[in-house]
Amino acid sequence: MISKVLIANRGEIALRIHRACKEMGIATVAVHSEADRDAMHVRLADESVCIGPASATDSYLSIPAIIAACEITHADAVHPGYGFLSENARFADIVEAHGMVFIGPTAEHIKLMGDKIAAKEAVSAAGIPVVPGSPGGVENYAEAKEVAKDVGFPLLVKASAGGGGRGMRLARTADDLEESLNAASQEALAAFGDGTVYLERYLERPRHIEVQVIADTHGNVVHLGERDCSLQRRNQKILEEAPSPALNAAQRDEIGEIVRKAIASIGYRGVGTIEFLYENGEFFFIEMNTRLQVEHPVTEMITGIDLVREQIRIAAGEELGFTQEEIVFSGHSLECRINAEHPRTFTPSPGTIKEFHAPGGMNVRLDSALYAGYTIPPHYDSLIGKLIVHGKTREGALLRLRRALGEIVITGIDTTIPLFIDLLDNQDFLNGDYDIHWLERWLEEQD
Ligand code: ADP
Repeated sequence: MISKVLIANRGEIALRIHRACKEMGIATVAVHSEADRDAMHVRLADESVCIGPASATDSYLSIPAIIAACEITHADAVHPGYGFLSENARFADIVEAHGMVFIGPTAEHIKLMGDKIAAKEAVSAAGIPVVPGSPGGVENYAEAKEVAKDVGFPLLVKASAGGGGRGMRLARTADDLEESLNAASQEALAAFGDGTVYLERYLERPRHIEVQVIADTHGNVVHLGERDCSLQRRNQKILEEAPSPALNAAQRDEIGEIVRKAIASIGYRGVGTIEFLYENGEFFFIEMNTRLQVEHPVTEMITGIDLVREQIRIAAGEELGFTQEEIVFSGHSLECRINAEHPRTFTPSPGTIKEFHAPGGMNVRLDSALYAGYTIPPHYDSLIGKLIVHGKTREGALLRLRRALGEIVITGIDTTIPLFIDLLDNQDFLNGDYDIHWLERWLEEQD
């Protein structure tokens, strides 16, 4: 039994978790930095604890501060959300060592999948197709040249500890290889404290398609279909949709089944996302995220399954309430990431929200922690909300999105809303005809 959850996060995701808890009759504890005293997640939670100054390192990333907050409030479980400590195996271990439930996978699985080289080996052994590349880490230029002979150019140098698109460098030809190797390794060492890099064939025009899985501790594993997250800028997702416009039902079942079997074979628990690049009808694994994703609502909209509720039930040792055969994919869903950023330059735009009006109506969902008069602090990620719509068809969902974007009002700061309004005038986007580089090409054309 879980009766009180401490939410180790902030912003829209803290609210999202709070909502699931309340609907399950579970009490919530918010933690916050000094900069977040007036935040919506603090206002709505049953209790709140200040865990440190504005700097995330000293608050949302401080394991001692969060554990102390758990002890003071007698929380019996911790939900890490996404980002911050959500993929920190040590945190998961420490939470459990203190006799609390970590709402997520085991520390071992977090650790395994956080090491991209080990993750690739593990999923490949479990039958998931991976991007061709170096068999493990690449120590030096001489080794990289050997790999290049087998795999060919272009090659992508990637950091084993990488995340958020950092520690990645492209080598188009042999001439770039040494420099890309050094640059990626140095960036990875600075960002993650680990300079280990590996090589992958660089796919020129792939889509980013990821499969959502959910597994309980009784051996039941179900896949919840895919999300298409190909609209990206600097390897960061901007808009996501489910199902992917590029797949048909047979392809969905095929990749879903491969993933489901693989995840069952490694004994995973909780929700997880297996990310692929998809090109010319082939899937290539790039990484697994062992947490709830920002874009999870599009899956919820087409399956009717509340992923946070399921996470909590699984953490409490309950069985999944559904089988694979009972999952019905219904209609189409799109999500726009509303960032406090200029819609063209993407310069962060923290500040005070003057007016705020949320769009409404049938099948429109706004996951956000905004309110009029709220001051967005400059210290954290610029995501301030997610607009999610559902329609019977992709066309219907696009029309609904256009309608909802026309209703939403956020003044006082810049947001990415105008970008989405412009995108809805583009025929390639409307046709679902885009790859991971499409948005950057489109943005350049606009200049
Ligand atoms: P991170 O953990 O930093 O997000 P990923 O491995 O998930 O790194 O890759 C992030 C993005 O980088 C992908 O969505 C894709 O756009 C691009 N990318 C990664 N690997 C490749 C590859 N082999 N070829 C082409 N693009 C890639």
